[in-house]
Order: sequence, then structure tokens, then C-alpha cells
Amino acid sequence: MKQIPYWLDTAPPFPDRSGKELPDAVDVAVIGGGLTGLSTALHTARKGADVLLVEKDKIGSGASGRNGSMCTQGITISTGEARKRYGQPRARELYDAFREAVDVVEELTEKEGIDCDFNRCGRLGVAYKPEHFEQKKAQQRDLAENFGHETVLLSPGELRAELGSDYYHGALLDPLSAGLHVGKYVHGLADAAERAGARIHERNAATAVTRSPDGTFLVETLHGTVRAKQVMAATDAYTDGSLPWFRKRLVSVGSFVIVTEPLGEELAREVIPKARLVVDSKNIGHYIRLTPDHRLAFGGRARFAPSDPASDRRSGAVLKREMAEIFPQLSNVGIDYVWGGSVGFSYDRIPHAGQAGGVYYSMGYCGHGVQMATYMGRAMAEVMDGHPEANPLRGIGFPKIPVPFYNGTAWFLPFAGAYYKAKDRLT
Ligand SMILES: Cc1cc2nc3c(=O)[nH]c(=O)nc-3n(C[C@H](O)[C@H](O)[C@H](O)COP(=O)(O)OP(=O)(O)OC[C@H]3O[C@@H](n4cnc5c(N)ncnc54)[C@H](O)[C@@H]3O)c2cc1C
Repeated sequence: MKQIPYWLDTAPPFPDRSGKELPDAVDVAVIGGGLTGLSTALHTARKGADVLLVEKDKIGSGASGRNGSMCTQGITISTGEARKRYGQPRARELYDAFREAVDVVEELTEKEGIDCDFNRCGRLGVAYKPEHFEQKKAQQRDLAENFGHETVLLSPGELRAELGSDYYHGALLDPLSAGLHVGKYVHGLADAAERAGARIHERNAATAVTRSPDGTFLVETLHGTVRAKQVMAATDAYTDGSLPWFRKRLVSVGSFVIVTEPLGEELAREVIPKARLVVDSKNIGHYIRLTPDHRLAFGGRARFAPSDPASDRRSGAVLKREMAEIFPQLSNVGIDYVWGGSVGFSYDRIPHAGQAGGVYYSMGYCGHGVQMATYMGRAMAEVMDGHPEANPLRGIGFPKIPVPFYNGTAWFLPFAGAYYKAKDRLT
């Protein structure tokens, strides 16, 4: 069993972008080489800026190369909650941004010729409990009436034509969500950013960012210091001590994925006949999809623990058990891959983007970052070019995690995990 993300292992070989000499000064320094950072680098470079991106490890080594490879529609909170907090017009604006984000990924893959299996295969939001199906009925009405988004309600009987499992109580099908191969995508985006003129330096961490009296920034890195007119923090769940203001506002939550051995076309079609993306309605839920080579990728939070090799193996065993409960026909298939990663959660469960201490940022995607990180990179390039209205998240304060002395170490996560697991068990 390999303990690396399937998406990075099955993408074409990547160039080594480490060991390069740091320039003295640039227009824009981007910290973090995931989808947010790469998209910001691409779009600021397209505007003619001299851009340097520093990545502490390798491109895509954070969440961007380790996720479920799903571009799913919908905000990170319910539409009802968004309306309650921000009012209907703003809720609609946010919803539209999340929806447009999938279009932006599609456009980029076409325009930049990124061959990454982008496919509008649709998403099944499956109901774990009968009352969740009732909630989905209300959600369908709300989406159609207030958000201009048509979805299809599937009764438990109708769902059987979409899923080889009797585990769920119906589903809401969104036809516009898309799957892709995120390993190929993240590296295609890096190539596109370089073609636009951005410089990418791997294995070079930013260690401190300070603002000079003239308004420029000094970005200290492991390999020297660079002066930048603008800085973009694109570090999400992997934010470290170099950006302490952000660390106090994010919780990194481990999420884990297993990928089976190839199932063959017939068994794969029995499990998910139309190769939809599947996301369940549990608090500690699962995300499930087929890979282009007919394996099943099965992800979830499994255990409320950070990712490391031993933790990933233990989580993989939990996921294998859960997969067999949902799909008994897969009880005896082998697991070829297991890995974990960190998801960046904000306290109010929506992403945040703007400027703090002069540093631009976008982070806290709460598990919806594949399309939103791409979209926000483009939006923040506009903001940095003097168009603050391009940021759909503008004006929403980025709250601190309300835990005394919190500095990014989420000691309380196992307790939160136990609470939500108990909630899932109770009817
Ligand atoms: C297991 C898993 C499954 C997921 N599934 C989905 C999904 O199916 N769909 C979806 O939409 N979202 C999903 N997500 C979330 C999504 O992957 C993220 O929201 C998104 O990738 C965030 O992109 P990013 O570029 O902001 O951050 P990241 O990709 O995490 O990149 C941040 C980068 O910053 C670097 N960095 C940190 N500190 C420094 C420093 N000081 N100097 C230099 N570099 C630094 C890190 O090394 C890292 O590479 C999932 C996440 C995980 C972990």
C-alpha cells in the first residue's frame, strides 16, 4: 500500500523547482504553492507583475495535492444560514461566486490546455438519515426559488439507479459539479503561472514577513530575503509561525483518503453507475468517487487526528471498514493508497479573504477549496490591482478561534470529533 496521494503518484513527473537564486526585489511575493498561490501567481503575472512564489515543500504538497478532487457546487454553510447571517442578496452573491468558481476551473483548463480529466459528472448529496432527505427537499426548493440553481431530488428507489448501495435514504443531484485529476491540475496551473512569467521556488519557506516604513515588505526565507511591493498569504491549513495573525484564525482538521485497487469497469459501474461524485450528509461524513482508472476513492475524517504516516494508516483501516458497510460488494478489494491532509477551517465555517497588516490573503475554505482557491486567486489578483469589489468575501471579518491562548494547536479537536460522531449516531 502506497502512503502518498494517488493524484500526485499518477500525474506526469514534475520538474524540480528548488535551489534557485532569490531575486532582490519583486512586485508580488506569494507564500504557498497550492491552488490559491498558483492561481494568484498566474493571474498577477498575466497582469504584467514581476511575481515570485515560494513554497516550503513541493507544489501541491499541501491540501491541493491531497484532496478528493471534487469541484462541488454550494457554499460551505447552508443557504439558510448564509441568508440569516448576511441577508438574501449577499447570500446569493456568495452562492454565485462558489458556482462561478467551477466555471473558472473549467475555463482555465481549456485556455491553458491543462489535461486533467475535468468532467461535469454531477454530485449526489446522499441522505444519511430519513430526516436528512426531508431537509434535501427543502434545500431543493430554496435553491430553485432563491439561488437560480436547479437540482434533482432522488427518492431512495431512484437513488438505486445511481449508487450500488442501500445505505442512504435518497439524494439531491446537482448536475453541475465536476470531478478532475487534481495532481495533473495543480501542476498544469504551475506550468501556466511560469508561462505567464511567475517564478516558482520550491523547498524555500518564508520565515517572517515585515512591513517597511515605505509600505513595501521584507519577506525572509530560508534562502535569503526579498523585498516585495505586495505579499499574498496562500497557506491555508498549512499556515505556520511566519504568519501568526492567520494561525490564530484557522483550525487544521485532518482528513483521510483510501483508494482501492482497480475494480475493473464492470464493478466500478455497479458501485457508481454514472461516475458521479458522492458526498454524504453525516457530520463526520464521507466523500466518494471513482478515479479515471476505475478505482474507488473513499475519503472522510475517520478520526479527529492530524495526518502523519502512522495516523494515516490507522485512519485508512477505519475508512476501509466504513467503505465495506456502505458497499458490501467491496469488502474484499485491496487498498492501494492511503494518505491524509489538513483542511483549513475558520470559526464561522466560510472562507476569508482580504488584507491584514497590509498582507493580502485568502484561506479557510472548509473543504471547498479546489474550485474556490482557484477562483479566489483570480479575485485577489484583481483586488491587488485596485479592484476590491472583485472579492466576494469582502467586508466579512475574519474571527479569531475563541479558545484562550489558541495559536494554531487544536488540542480540542478530539472532543469536537467525539461530539459530532455521537450526533451522527443519535436519530
Ligand atoms: C483530504 C482532503 C480532501 C479534500 N477534498 C476536497 C474536495 O474534494 N473538494 C474541495 O473543494 N476541497 C477539498 N479539500 C480542501 C482543498 O484541498 C483545500 O481547500 C485547497 O487545496 C486549499 O488550497 P490552498 O492553496 O489555499 O492551500 P494548500 O494547498 O494547503 O497550500 C498551502 C501551501 O502553503 C505552503 N506553506 C505553508 N507555510 C509556508 C511558508 N511559511 N512558506 C512557504 N510555503 C508555505 C504549504 O507547504 C502548502 O503547500 C480537501 C482537503 C483535504 C486535506
